[in-house]
Amino acid sequence: MKVYLDNNATTKVDEKVLEAMLPYFGEVYGNPSSMHGFGQESNKAMEEARKTIADILGVEASELVFTASGTESDNMAIRGVARAYKRRGNHIITSCIEHPAVRNTCKDLEKEGYEVTYLSVDENGLVDLEELKAAIKRETILITVMHANNEIGTIQPIEEIAKIANEKKIVFHTDAVQSAGKLKLKPKEMGIDLLTISGHKFYGPKGMGLLYIKQGTRLGKVITGGGQERKRRPGTSDVPGIVGMATALKAAVAHQEEECKRLSELRDYFEEELLKKVPEIVINAKGAPRLPGTSSVTFKYLEGESILLSLNYKGIAVSSGSACSSDELQASHVLLGIGIPVEFAHGTIRFSLGKYNTKEEIDYVLAELPPIIERLRMISPLWGEFVNK
Ligand SMILES: *Cc1c(COP(=O)(O)O)cnc(C)c1O
Repeated sequence: MKVYLDNNATTKVDEKVLEAMLPYFGEVYGNPSSMHGFGQESNKAMEEARKTIADILGVEASELVFTASGTESDNMAIRGVARAYKRRGNHIITSCIEHPAVRNTCKDLEKEGYEVTYLSVDENGLVDLEELKAAIKRETILITVMHANNEIGTIQPIEEIAKIANEKKIVFHTDAVQSAGKLKLKPKEMGIDLLTISGHKFYGPKGMGLLYIKQGTRLGKVITGGGQERKRRPGTSDVPGIVGMATALKAAVAHQEEECKRLSELRDYFEEELLKKVPEIVINAKGAPRLPGTSSVTFKYLEGESILLSLNYKGIAVSSGSACSSDELQASHVLLGIGIPVEFAHGTIRFSLGKYNTKEEIDYVLAELPPIIERLRMISPLWGEFVNK
């Protein structure tokens, strides 16, 4: 049996999405910026896709900019605000558990003279609104806090954060890559100025990002070139990708409620059974509002990589830490951020469920995983020390 439980890293493209994209790799190949019929046909498809997404988000089509990844959208938002509002101030507030696309962009800006405050989070990964208020100063130009965390699934009180930012007239950006297609996402109602999403996290194509830019929000240029996307993001538009992203988002929101309920129940079942079968484990962020399909489990006295490889041998795909940090040997900043000791952070596995996962698959994992943990612990010196104590 093959079981893919790494849907927070990426998802399988929906067949309907692939079908919708195919014509734009074939017959309809004009450059949407061209004035002739070939170009106009592409342009029409692109603008229809933009309208579809705008309607879903409840925003104007002119407020949406297509990019080539969630990472690029995050960069465009953060660097764009940093440049445009430089004269007003140099202070940025973010959380200590952001995705590297946000975290490392902030770190990079620190080298350019910007000051960044990294808000702490509690054991569930939630930021403290009082700490946020206290961190704001005259020089603060941007607050960027993610909607839902990719490693532990914690959902931040984004509307309350937005309210604080709006009151102080500070631009508010949120990385909503993990929440798009899963949670309510209405930037205007929620007080969000800048919002990032990425197609491949909701069964759309990889290499397709989007940035919502509330009208009136100034952004300095990050990429220079031609006049595409109203001069906000130069580069020939990826028409198949854009069509694919719109089709994927439409499909995801159409079944959002039922699917979230199904995934939450499946995830809860998995966690309850696992707690019964395996001793000395911790389910991370269990006390917070969480993404429906995300389960972060710390297996004490073990290395995540050895669990990952043993599961892989059984056809089960999971991630240790986050996909982006799994090739680094450092413990995840998210897990350290919620207060897990370094030695335990290394033994953490993320199971991220998606729409193709079934109860049979979860039962298969529940059958294969406990003996793996038992076997690995038998040869773990840390486990040996623990048992002897
Ligand atoms: C995957 C992810 C990103 C990066 O998106 P890409 O399109 O892969 O660049 C950013 N933020 C979060 C929370 C993510 O999960």
